[in-house]
Amino acid sequence: MTAFPLPPAMRRALDLAAVAAEAGEVPVGAVITLDGEIIAEARNAMRGTLDPTAHAEIVAIRHAATRLGRSRLDGCTLWVSLEPCAMCAAAIALARLDALRFAAPDPKGGGVDHGARIFAQPTCHHRPDVLGGIGEDEAAGQLKAFFQQRRRTNEKGATREGDAPISC
Ligand SMILES: [Zn+2]
Repeated sequence: MTAFPLPPAMRRALDLAAVAAEAGEVPVGAVITLDGEIIAEARNAMRGTLDPTAHAEIVAIRHAATRLGRSRLDGCTLWVSLEPCAMCAAAIALARLDALRFAAPDPKGGGVDHGARIFAQPTCHHRPDVLGGIGEDEAAGQLKAFFQQRRRTNEKGATREGDAPISC
């Protein structure tokens, strides 16, 4: 259990992840803050929008850029309930976000501390300040419950459409 209250932004990201799960999406939520204020938020929407790139982080980055009227999100922090994948990590670098805060690590699909380790590559020209593990227990519990439920559904002979080999 987390010993301290979660930062409000991560609290909101975890709540958005729960909303995603209710909609049948892999539970990932993301929030972007500027000067401590939430300026954009999103949750996974790949199945609902038929867009394989509609990861919570990507959608939140688009909303924040639109709201601020600029393509670079200098000064902003992205809070997300799961370690970003390689695509989202690259988008975070392109958006010039100051900082990334994530909850659960993702050894299978992550691209920050695992896999491609995007920010460690010489081709990455912007490295945000990164801190993981904030609210990790709750985020990991959401993902575990989601995939257990999906497996139960599949065992009952329901459609296997949307089975995801990775967790984000
Ligand atoms: Zn992603």
